Amino acid sequence: MQTVLVAGGAGFIGSHLCQRLLNDRYSVICVDNFITGEKRNISELLKNGNFELIEKDIINISKSDLPKADFIFNLASPASTNAKSPRSYMAFPIETLLVNSQGTHNLLEAARAGSSRFLYVSTSEVYGDPTVSPQREDYFGNVNPNGVRAVYDESKRFGEAITCAYNRKYGLDTRIVRIFNTYGPKMRADDGRVVSNFITQAINNKPLTIYGDGSQTRSFCFITDMIDGLISAMFNDSLKGEVVNIGNPDERKIAEIAELI
Ligand code: UDP
Repeated sequence: MQTVLVAGGAGFIGSHLCQRLLNDRYSVICVDNFITGEKRNISELLKNGNFELIEKDIINISKSDLPKADFIFNLASPASTNAKSPRSYMAFPIETLLVNSQGTHNLLEAARAGSSRFLYVSTSEVYGDPTVSPQREDYFGNVNPNGVRAVYDESKRFGEAITCAYNRKYGLDTRIVRIFNTYGPKMRADDGRVVSNFITQAINNKPLTIYGDGSQTRSFCFITDMIDGLISAMFNDSLKGEVVNIGNPDERKIAEIAELI
């Protein structure tokens, strides 16, 4: 049985990924410090004998703290972009900077020591305030290095850079995935994101808060599709050294999303 380490495995996307890997008969090691992840996301998984939880912060971890893994996914980072969310990366600016830089370095060292394949989970936020739409992987973005979002954008860009450096300098088998808007079960209800807000409001018979006239568009990827993408990006042998955007190309107006919900 092959072993997969998932850093950030107790978060929204990480916990779905752990579940899928268990279903696919991998032994799974979840590393999380619960800064934004939640115990309840993995409570079912803890009953599975092939699932192990290491409650640690990857910022302070050393490779000797980690069991050898065949594959390492790094999803460890606060991720909510919504300034109003108590779990936003803006609420944890220093932790966000360090987890994507120092934390990623620590995991890359573990990958090098164990000859593990390494996948860094990045974000569409690396494009900053894009001047090109839709964004292709070869677009470099438009990022303000000292704006309020910089703690996330710039640290994710650093995370990508150090992942590529390990690929180039040591020949480590690395991949980078940039995640776009994703929704589904286990999303935090207090995330402040549009899908979770509208659903929570609808359940509570409250009016839906459409900001502006609702003509702004977004595209939303359902979590199981995102997990399919992450699994292919990791296990497809031809993707060594590649960068892949994953999201749903089907763009909808926010007013239409409100109607649907
Ligand atoms: N939005 C909205 N009502 C809400 C939350 C968000 O109309 O209660 C809008 C928001 O103005 C934006 C879009 O939905 O145009 C997506 O916002 P979200 O914060 O979910 O994601 P992001 O802007 O990071 O894509």
